[in-house]
Amino acid sequence: MYPFIYESYKTITTMKSILENHAALKNIVDNVAEVAGYLWQKGWAERNGGNITVNITEHIDDEIRQMPAISPVYQIGATLPHLKGCYFYCKGTNMRMRDLARWPMDNGSVIRILDDCASYVIIADKPVKPTSELPSHLAVHNYLLAKGSPYRASVHTHPIELVALTHNKTWMEKDVATKMLWSMIPETKAFCPRGLGMVPYMLPSSVELADATIQAIDDDYDVVMWEKHGVFAVDTDVMAAFDQIDVLNKSALIYIAAKNMGFEPDGMTDEQMRELSDVFGLPK
Ligand SMILES: [Zn+2]
Repeated sequence: MYPFIYESYKTITTMKSILENHAALKNIVDNVAEVAGYLWQKGWAERNGGNITVNITEHIDDEIRQMPAISPVYQIGATLPHLKGCYFYCKGTNMRMRDLARWPMDNGSVIRILDDCASYVIIADKPVKPTSELPSHLAVHNYLLAKGSPYRASVHTHPIELVALTHNKTWMEKDVATKMLWSMIPETKAFCPRGLGMVPYMLPSSVELADATIQAIDDDYDVVMWEKHGVFAVDTDVMAAFDQIDVLNKSALIYIAAKNMGFEPDGMTDEQMRELSDVFGLPK
């Protein structure tokens, strides 16, 4: 077990950042900050809305493994066996995406999962407690590792037009929204090739919502819509997860633009969408 050292705030702030001399890690955190800025600019991240967690374990060296805890031991609230010895960068609880965009290590932190797979400590740079959504994000990462998935990033955000869609039951039916969104512009099917999984309204942060999200990912979706709330996306890295949400929301905007012009958009035909899948080798 790692010693828990009570650092004074002054000591912590004068310590060097974990990102120094760790170029790969710095690159990941820079990308998280860049995406956080996009989420704010798009109006998808009001106040402290949204979360980002990234599994950074493969970029952890012995120097980082030796770093002492700078927080007490926190319980996750679940035992997640595949996360033993894993490290994550997590947005901090109550922190704003617009602040994280500029100061990622003041508004997020690096955590180490302890050997019991049920608790964690913060190791850098400051004792910024992770998002209250941490248990559900970690449960998803645990699922991804168990499946042997190369996905390392999860993003939760509130894309306005996609959330608006879920206020009508028709769009909540399986793959109805996916088909409409894919048919607006070929790139949406090409770059979000598994479509949009739908999860009915459940209490934010609840175990039920986390379980339903994992079930939807297991049902072969990378982007999962939470009714009247937001999306949860997973991909290899944070930029790729953001891109999947972005292309879906772009399609929703095209749909709205056509409706505003006074007509129901035709959408690409089923045959045109099948051709796309054949030519580009898409999974659906
Ligand atoms: Zn939310």
